[in-house]
Amino acid sequence: MSSERTSKQGLSNLRLSYYLSLFLFGGFILVAVVVAATSYMMASEQNRVAAEKTRELIATAIGGVENQLRVLIRDYSNWTAIYDAVRARDYEWIYENSGSSATNEDYLDLNLVVEPGGQANYGWVYNGDEKPQPGLLEAEIMAQMAALLEPTPVNGDSVTHAYATARGEIWLLATTRIVLTDGSAPVADGELARHVFGLRVSDELISGLGDQFLIEGVSLSREPIEGSDNLALNAHEGAPVAYVTWRAPRPGTATLEKISIPLITVMALLALATAMTGRMMVRSATRLERALVMARAADQAKTDFLANISHELRTPMNGVIGVMGILKATDLSEKQQQMVQLVTNSAEAQMRIIEDLVDISRIESGTASLDLVPFRPDEELRNVVDLLRLDADKKDLNFAFQTDIEAIDMVLGDPNAFRQIATNLIGNAIKFTETGQVSVHLDGTTRGDEALLSLSVSDTGPGIAPEHQRLIFERFAQVDSSKSRQKGGSGLGLSISKALVEMIGGTIEVKSSPGQGATFTVRLALELPRQKMNEAA
Ligand code: ADP
Repeated sequence: MSSERTSKQGLSNLRLSYYLSLFLFGGFILVAVVVAATSYMMASEQNRVAAEKTRELIATAIGGVENQLRVLIRDYSNWTAIYDAVRARDYEWIYENSGSSATNEDYLDLNLVVEPGGQANYGWVYNGDEKPQPGLLEAEIMAQMAALLEPTPVNGDSVTHAYATARGEIWLLATTRIVLTDGSAPVADGELARHVFGLRVSDELISGLGDQFLIEGVSLSREPIEGSDNLALNAHEGAPVAYVTWRAPRPGTATLEKISIPLITVMALLALATAMTGRMMVRSATRLERALVMARAADQAKTDFLANISHELRTPMNGVIGVMGILKATDLSEKQQQMVQLVTNSAEAQMRIIEDLVDISRIESGTASLDLVPFRPDEELRNVVDLLRLDADKKDLNFAFQTDIEAIDMVLGDPNAFRQIATNLIGNAIKFTETGQVSVHLDGTTRGDEALLSLSVSDTGPGIAPEHQRLIFERFAQVDSSKSRQKGGSGLGLSISKALVEMIGGTIEVKSSPGQGATFTVRLALELPRQKMNEAA
């Protein structure tokens, strides 16, 4: 029975170690996934924030350029002197004080004057003539600029701007009305001239903005570029004329690339440690299981051997005892009677050892079973005491027997086991005690439908040293084997008693110190027969 348990335990050890390895592996995968996912998410978030910031910076830079042009056109248009010059068509003055800004200076590339009511326009362009040129911008674009200004309030502060493709290039164009500096003499819109200022949006201008804000790869493109970030430069109707494009910085990805090698190394080491731990666990569990299986096989072989050999020994010994019984009844001389008695005693002692061997092998092989019949514990004990009293008397020992189980009449259990336990304990007490007394005490109380019995056997013998008190319950264990052998015995009595007590579900203990005798106590909880209980109720 017990060996079957160990094998199951061995198997479950192995299974447990597999589960643990699996658990470890699962844990590792989980950690790896969490680390990878967290790193990826953090990197993506960092990339997203950086892209957003870069876009904001570029939009701010473009806004700065637009603002610069708007401020410039407002300054040149809220000006009484130019108002008068335009009315007087004093082209020379206009060129010197305003138009030359387009031909000479690099912050303006186009300076146009539109006469009141859009009758005519003239102006100056970079690399162009000092003389005012008509039709520098296509009529369509001029119409767009006029339309742009139309809805704004009639004053020099209303400045609008838009991007346009003109003269084969991309332009930022701004427009406003030319008014008196002090804002006086409000006139109808149709009587006011207009200014159109232009700035060429070149590759240099745009990449210059990138350099200003330390953003790499900023350029101008007619079409949005896939895989890059793009910011549209819109015409007056909102349709894109061109795009500022750039490669968004990816600091998260860069960081991830930097830490990926150390991270992968750490994960690989972790994986290795996990694999090695799992392997070690499975290996040691396999070794343990193999050892358990071997131990079980060895134990089984020993038990089988004991069972077989005990049986083989008992048969001839029964023959010897039987024949001696018959021989005793024949006409023998006194000497012969003594000899026959000696042979009988020896054979009976041998038989007891054989019985013990049979018992222990039955218990160990798991084939021993207990009866469940009603019996009177005090009566069974009295029988044992009466039988063993002869031995105590032979040694002149004081032999005391007391029972205190008034309330208990019958109990349910195995009377043979009970007798066997009592015989072993009392037999030992008498066997090992030379002088003094052996006392047997049976105590009993009831608890619910159970009888709680306590059998204690005390003696004034040599006692048992504390370090031997556990050992004596082992098979074939004898404290002093030479002395024990003188007294007879196999070292099996206590181990059989302990096994029986445990099969019944009780406990056995010894209290002793060398030279102070010993007290063995057995505690059993046995069922009370139902009938009796009902009667009592
Ligand atoms: P056996 O009596 O056949 O040797 P047991 O299993 O009954 O085997 O006892 C084991 C050992 O425990 C004995 O050999 C003895 O050394 C010790 N022992 C048992 N009972 C007593 C006792 N009452 N007093 C002293 N020693 C004891």
